[in-house]
Amino acid sequence: MRLDVPTLLVVLAGLTLMLAMGMLVQSRRSANARYMLNLALALLLVGPSFLLVALRGLIPDWISIVVANAGILAGLGMCWNGFRAFNHRRSRPAAVIVPPVLWLLACLHPDFYASFPLRTAAGWTGITLFAFGLSYEIWIRGADRLPARRPIGVLCLAASFVAAGEVVFALLNRHQVSARLSDGWLSLPVLFSIYCLFGATVLSLVMTQQRTVHRLRRQASQDALTGLLNRGAFVEAASAQLKTATLTDSDIGLLLFDLDRFKEVNDSHGHAAGDAVLVAFAEILRRSLRQTDVIGRIGGEEFAALLTGVDARRANLIAEGIRLELARLAIDHAGTAIATTVSVGLTIARARETGLTSLMERTDGALYMAKRGGRDRVETAPA
Ligand code: GH3
Ligand code: MG
Ligand code: MG
Repeated sequence: MRLDVPTLLVVLAGLTLMLAMGMLVQSRRSANARYMLNLALALLLVGPSFLLVALRGLIPDWISIVVANAGILAGLGMCWNGFRAFNHRRSRPAAVIVPPVLWLLACLHPDFYASFPLRTAAGWTGITLFAFGLSYEIWIRGADRLPARRPIGVLCLAASFVAAGEVVFALLNRHQVSARLSDGWLSLPVLFSIYCLFGATVLSLVMTQQRTVHRLRRQASQDALTGLLNRGAFVEAASAQLKTATLTDSDIGLLLFDLDRFKEVNDSHGHAAGDAVLVAFAEILRRSLRQTDVIGRIGGEEFAALLTGVDARRANLIAEGIRLELARLAIDHAGTAIATTVSVGLTIARARETGLTSLMERTDGALYMAKRGGRDRVETAPA
């Protein structure tokens, strides 16, 4: 199959422009505006630069060689800054300015400008470094685990290897390289880089969607004040945990917490003070329980925790520890120390022999006993 290089590059330039337009429109409403803007500008630079390469022979060489390659390098720098923006890192304007300036300076040297292999090797060196930098930034530096990061990283890394190969090839087989392009053949590395560019661009859009979905999911399942699971998410996670415990036939413990005379805290110190107490108690729960335990705020001043693989003695110890820690804590709010206590209901059961609803009802009974018994205590539901 013989591919017509100028036609392909013209098509490519058009497609990149379309993609850039889409990104510009999207960036105005996006939470990742700086990222989208950088990628759009990168495409706006790379697209026309490809067009200039395609017009070689029709326009002066210094435009189709010197300006076009500078544009591609600047575009890659913008793309790298876009990925940094996605990772909430500062932009580095030097990445956009320095590589094209170095290229332009090199082109001022007559020997360099006259040597096709040297020019090719230099251009591909820039692409190698940027492709590697892009891969590192998006694959390794990202703290979140968005699924699109890895394929983008793989594509960029593959592009960097191919580009590095091209540098070596240009330096070793000077003649062949020049023959391939002047014959009107689109070399495989160029074709591969184009695929990588498009693949990475499309996946970059997918990645913003993935971030949005993650954020919305988190918001839908999290209690905004304490950051714990809300009631719905607690029930969902606890049910799943219960199912797992059923498979391994383990014991589970459910703890229900209700802060004592909490209305009085609000009445005496104000709602903001009450909120501070809720946050402090959530912190105690986080500190006292394991990562594998399911913890939630299931009501205004009511919390729940599902513990797996614990016996009655251990669960009681944990509950007592939490109760004591709160009782001893003087929560500082606007210079006032607020003291409060918590009542706890506890049920231990074999996961196989219970369901979440009955577990909640039994534990609620125990909590009621704790309240009736004078508060600030742990009561265990009868077996
Ligand atoms: P008891 O010991 O019997 O549990 O008494 P209580 O006062 O804690 O119980 P009650 O159910 O009468 O009051 C619960 C209070 O919790 C009432 C409500 O104002 C308060 N509350 C619920 N949600 C929030 C919240 O998000 N922030 C604050 N500050 N208070 C809240
Ligand atoms: Mg209550
Ligand atoms: Mg209460």
